Amino acid sequence: MARCLIGCGSNLGKRREQLDRALELLRFMPGVTLQAVSRYRETTPVGGPPGQGSFLNGACLIETELPPRQVLDMLAAVENTLHRERTERWGQRTIDLDLLLYEDIVMNTADLTVPHPRMATRRFVLEPAAEIAGDLPYPVGACTVRDLLDNISTPHPLIAVVGVPGSGAAEVASAIADAVMGRVLHAPAPLPVPDGGPPVSLARWRQTLTAWAAPLAVSRWDDAAQATIADFWCEWLPDAAEDSLDHDSLADFRSDVAAAAETCVAPVVAILLTADSAVLEERIAFRSRHAREHTDVFADLAPAAILCDRTGDGLTPLLRIQDRLVRRLRTTGDRGSRAPKAVITIDAGDISRAALEAIAAVEAML
Ligand code: ATP
Ligand code: CA
Ligand code: CA
Repeated sequence: MARCLIGCGSNLGKRREQLDRALELLRFMPGVTLQAVSRYRETTPVGGPPGQGSFLNGACLIETELPPRQVLDMLAAVENTLHRERTERWGQRTIDLDLLLYEDIVMNTADLTVPHPRMATRRFVLEPAAEIAGDLPYPVGACTVRDLLDNISTPHPLIAVVGVPGSGAAEVASAIADAVMGRVLHAPAPLPVPDGGPPVSLARWRQTLTAWAAPLAVSRWDDAAQATIADFWCEWLPDAAEDSLDHDSLADFRSDVAAAAETCVAPVVAILLTADSAVLEERIAFRSRHAREHTDVFADLAPAAILCDRTGDGLTPLLRIQDRLVRRLRTTGDRGSRAPKAVITIDAGDISRAALEAIAAVEAML
């Protein structure tokens, strides 16, 4: 038998009756035992088109013999019975049932991702979930559901928007800060990526670390801001440095970074922007065409554009760094106490869309 956590919401029609009815339908499904149901909470819609009514949100815990895919199908069947219609993304709905957790399974297929990929910053999900199942493990954060709720409840949280040059991290961080009236921190020094000249030295990596760590120092943390959104994350620097440093220098740099991190505020949430090779290639080419103009658009791709002009390939180093960044943020094993418990991965192929996704992820936690 597997325990599954289900998130429920409704903001169209008779919300309470529809939620009750959905739970009743689940209760009588063959192969399913309804174990616990949370209270319903009134919440403000996040991310969707404007003008929709507020939600009632809840959560329930079931035990089932069904495999994950069949649980999703069963939830869809209940949604269909209650006349769920899908017109626009995050539009209003009579009922929404999401599979949040299925034991400690981690899976990612075309139509099912478990744990639910956006649950970790959603207060409207985590509050009812923690009420009935706070101790359930959240495997991708190596923590529990209650830990996730505590995590997003950290006062004056730091949110790190991270991605390789060309992923639009600076733009997305600014957009979030504007939307939530937070403080934005841009990287005080650019990420030293290869430009085809001599490899970046250990001294330069250390300067970058010192510059990045300074505004994040715990001792000087400005707690006037509701939230701080940074477009850099110190603990990622060794992944970027790996290709330019020899084994011993890299080991030294790793310990420098670990020591610096101890003195810095740790991000509670990482917004991970990923870009595929076609998108990055196009942006590098754009940057190289416009190199002589004074434009800020993808300014962080300047070294990659120079490398591209010199060698014909500016892309490979960026993809290597991106792979390591993704691995660091999404590894489920021993994440260490300083790794962000909530990681929201967003495709950066369309920057304005990525910004809206990121804003929704952050608005959901505040
Ligand atoms: P969100 O997923 O951000 O909460 P939503 O609930 O409005 O948004 P839907 O339109 O209900 O999104 O679902 C879109 C698709 O998400 C579904 O067709 C389903 O295949 C897919 N999906 C992937 N993982 C899950 C999951 N864990 N639970 C529910 N649906 C999922
Ligand atoms: Ca949903
Ligand atoms: Ca859904």
